[in-house]
Amino acid sequence: MIRFDVVIVGGGHAGAQAAIALRQAKVTGSIAIVGEEAEPPYERPPLSKEYLAGEKPFERMLLRPVEKWADLGVTLLTGRRVIAVDPAAHTVSTGDGETLAYGDLVWAAGGHPRRLTCTGHDLTGVHSVRTRADVDRMIAELPDTRQVAVIGGGYIGLEAAAVLTRLGKKVTVLEAQDRVLARVAGEPLSRFYEAEHRARGVVVRLGVTVECIEARDGRACGVRLAGGAIVSAEMVIVGIGIVPAVEPLLRVGAAGGNGVAVDGHCRTSLPHIYAIGDCALHANVFADAASIRLESVQNANDQAAVAAKTIAGIEAPGNAAVPWFWSNQYDLRLQTVGLSIGHDTAIVRGDPAERSFSLVYLKAGRVIALDCVNATRDFVQGRALVAGGVVADPALLGDVSVPLKSLAE
Ligand SMILES: Cc1cc2nc3c(=O)[nH]c(=O)nc-3n(C[C@H](O)[C@H](O)[C@H](O)COP(=O)(O)OP(=O)(O)OC[C@H]3O[C@@H](n4cnc5c(N)ncnc54)[C@H](O)[C@@H]3O)c2cc1C
Repeated sequence: MIRFDVVIVGGGHAGAQAAIALRQAKVTGSIAIVGEEAEPPYERPPLSKEYLAGEKPFERMLLRPVEKWADLGVTLLTGRRVIAVDPAAHTVSTGDGETLAYGDLVWAAGGHPRRLTCTGHDLTGVHSVRTRADVDRMIAELPDTRQVAVIGGGYIGLEAAAVLTRLGKKVTVLEAQDRVLARVAGEPLSRFYEAEHRARGVVVRLGVTVECIEARDGRACGVRLAGGAIVSAEMVIVGIGIVPAVEPLLRVGAAGGNGVAVDGHCRTSLPHIYAIGDCALHANVFADAASIRLESVQNANDQAAVAAKTIAGIEAPGNAAVPWFWSNQYDLRLQTVGLSIGHDTAIVRGDPAERSFSLVYLKAGRVIALDCVNATRDFVQGRALVAGGVVADPALLGDVSVPLKSLAE
């Protein structure tokens, strides 16, 4: 049995950054990253953007050149899925029968795409967008694809819709709620994106329920909706969220549910086991300390840094990083800061018709978040308003001639 001082499970953004941050924190012991994907750690956001579009080669998505991992003294154990953890013995077991011992364990396993459960969910032509392998399968089918149905109007579904429309496909977005991005953004932003997609020929259908995927010759050929309508599509993309990959930890008693619970220092309830990134359920100060998981590169990187410091024994305040995120669709660059969950007021700053504007979200008068479309200055300056929970005059927040930084003081 091989032993590493730190074993990191998951070689995504969080796992890779944890290894780097451990070295930055002067941890000199042995470190291994055990990841189930075949590739060394790579950037995930381009998968639904430039990589799907054929504009960014995979090599440019690597988080570090492969040889740099060896230079850092980090052992990459790719293509291995951890299936069990023994917190008493300090070991993890992989699907191919290996056992690795650890001093500290960092669980950074992210999540797996939520799948449909209806008839036809597993047909050829039905895809999720989570890994390079997922997107390579889509790219291989594109030459034979004329029509695409995207199930789920969240960021990933909309990004894929934008790319595939630009590639000349006839795209239909099917959303169960009465607006796209309903889970993450205010209504004005949803309506803006619906209009942008429709203006480019995307059919956006709201309030629809998927009944099953229709098959022809063993392949997907369409999506049947409740009520009987069929949306023809040779490719079906399912973008309905993720299921956090935490089962091996919960099975041995780690606290959690929809994720593994961690404290402000990314410690799980099990000794010497930390969790970070998409799978970590944490009390977030920007969500009124509600227990949430954040699915963003920022959160993966910030929690990785916190866990590394905790392992290194560096005294540091708990995680209180301001959440931020981005999404690219067509020529629209959306940047968000803060969390708009629970807002009671959304102020439109600027004119959506000019395709450069922001939404400023307030809760009880305080600025809690901004969604900025082609408005990087607002994103940069708005951060201080969110970080400080600033109370500002709504009329000034909505006035583009007033720089947000002037309201932060
Ligand atoms: C298509 C797409 C576009 C996105 N766009 C954006 C964006 O524009 N901006 C943004 O901020 N965020 C974006 N995100 C979200 C962002 O990529 C994630 O929040 C981030 O990757 C989370 O990092 P993570 O390390 O927690 O999880 P992941 O990156 O998912 O990495 C987890 C790794 O662990 C592996 N794993 C899982 N279970 C096991 C196991 N049992 N054993 C071993 N390995 C395991 C997985 O295979 C995976 O490689 C996007 C995500 C996707 C899928």
